[in-house]
Amino acid sequence: MSKIIDGKAVSAYLRQEIKNEVEKLILDHNVQPGLAVILVGTDPASTVYVRNKHKACEATGIRSVSIELPATVSEDEVLLKIDELNRDDTIHGILVQLPLPKHIDEKKVINAISPAKDVDAFHPENVGRIMTGDYKFLPCTPAGIISLLDYYKVEIEGKSCVIIGRSNIVGKPMAHLLLERNGTVTVAHSRTKDLKATASQADILVVAIGKPELINSEYVKEGAVVIDVGINRKSDGRLVGDVDFESVKDKVSLITPVPGGVGPMTITTLLRNTLMSAKTSLNKA
Ligand code: NAD
Repeated sequence: MSKIIDGKAVSAYLRQEIKNEVEKLILDHNVQPGLAVILVGTDPASTVYVRNKHKACEATGIRSVSIELPATVSEDEVLLKIDELNRDDTIHGILVQLPLPKHIDEKKVINAISPAKDVDAFHPENVGRIMTGDYKFLPCTPAGIISLLDYYKVEIEGKSCVIIGRSNIVGKPMAHLLLERNGTVTVAHSRTKDLKATASQADILVVAIGKPELINSEYVKEGAVVIDVGINRKSDGRLVGDVDFESVKDKVSLITPVPGGVGPMTITTLLRNTLMSAKTSLNKA
C-alpha cells in the first residue's frame, strides 16, 4: 500500500455517499439540504475557499447560497443577515468565512448563529458538546482527519498522539476527538520547550501550525503516521504544508500530502454536517 494518504480519493468516495443520501432525502421528504456561506470582503484566500465550498455543494446536490458583503459592512448588518438565515427553513447550515474585518467582533458573529445550524461547530454550545462527547456537529478539519485515519485503518486506541498547534479550530478539538478514541494525547505549541523530543514520541503526529515545512525528519519517529494540516503558499507560488514532506516521507508509515490530504476532507465534513442538519430538521417539522 502507498504511504501517501489520498485525501482526494477518500473525499470522492465519501462525497458519493453524501450525494446518494441527499438524493434520497429529496425523494423521500422533498427536503434539499441548504448551506449559506457569508463572505465579508474580498480576501483572495477566503474567496477561493468559499468558491470551493460552493462547487462541492453543487456536486453533491446540496443547495448553496453565497452571501457576499462588502468589507465596510457593519456588524449589525451581518448579525441581521444571520438572524434571517436562522429563521429560514430552507437553510440547514450557516457558516461565516473567517477572518472578518477588524471592526466586526468574530465572537459575537459566531454566537449569533443558531447552534442547530452551526455546521462549522464553532458556537460555544457546540464546542462544549465536543468537550463532553455529546455533540451534534464535529468541527470540519479534525473530524475529516479522524475519517482519514479510519479509512486507512489507523488504530488510535492506546497510541501516542501528538498535536502541534492549539488553535480553537484545529488543535484543541483534534485533541478531544483523539482522546475520545482512547489515544494518549499531548498538545504541543509555540511555547513547548523541546518540540523535537515531544513530537518524535508520536505514533500519530498531527501538525497544524501554519509554518511552511518546519517539521523535518528530526521531529518524526520511525514508522509514525503524519497528518499535515498546514496550507502555506511559498514565494514561488507552490502550496506546501507545515511538514517537510521530502525529508520525512521515507521515515513514516503514512503521510498526508499538501495539497490533496486534509484539505478536501474539511469540505467533505462540512457537506456531511449540512446533510445531518437537514435530516435533523425533519424531526422538528
Ligand atoms: P493558528 O495560527 O490559529 O494556530 C497556530 C498554532 O500553532 C498555535 O497554537 C501556535 O501555538 C502553534 N505554533 C505556531 N508556531 C509554532 C512553532 N514554531 N512551534 C510549535 N507550535 C507553533 O492556526 P490554525 O488555524 O490552527 O491553522 C494552522 C495551519 O493549518 C494553517 O496553515 C492553516 O492554513 C491550516 N489549516 C488548514 C485547514 C485544512 O482544511 N487543511 C483547515 C484549517 C487550517
